[in-house]
Amino acid sequence: MKTKREQLDELNKYWENNCTCELKKTASRAVFGDGNAESEIIFIGEAPGKKEDEGGRPFIGAAGKFLSEMLENIGMKREDIYITNIVKYRPPDNRDPSPKEKEDCNEWLINELKIISPKLIIFLGRHSMTRFFPNEKISDVHGKIQIIETKEFGKQAFLPLYHPAAALYNGSMREILIMDFKKIPKALEKINLAL
Ligand code: URA
Repeated sequence: MKTKREQLDELNKYWENNCTCELKKTASRAVFGDGNAESEIIFIGEAPGKKEDEGGRPFIGAAGKFLSEMLENIGMKREDIYITNIVKYRPPDNRDPSPKEKEDCNEWLINELKIISPKLIIFLGRHSMTRFFPNEKISDVHGKIQIIETKEFGKQAFLPLYHPAAALYNGSMREILIMDFKKIPKALEKINLAL
């Protein structure tokens, strides 16, 4: 039986060769998901930025530093969790990924999630949230745990949060994100009881 890490390595190798996303043409490289493949929690961001495109790992810029601080606030380390993006290639000038680009990277993400099979999927920002909750607004549902039946994973728990890059320099959003982050340990307890 292959470990989750080995399965992820195979998945990334396959999709790096076969992903049809147009962003491949302008990005320096694919930025794979990163962290503890055995984690109960997976964070999903939007797309790599400049630093990630250069360094080859997700969330290694200012937003990533803020995320690490918030993890430390709740007694977790970056190495404890797994983190990835809906789109694996940097969009030029950090523009939003298009619906087609998201669709082209979708199977890669779904299979990544299936391998990790986390207890809790945390969306960082509206782009990753709307992949699963197309009709919700992040301003309405941030910090509220959603346990739903999905066609991909069966019964699954989700927690939408504001994106750390959006909250970084916005005082009120920053406070909300810090407060929402503190709900993660309790959310995990609730999921363990509910699932
Ligand atoms: N923002 C994201 O959504 N993903 C990254 O990897 C970095 C910044």
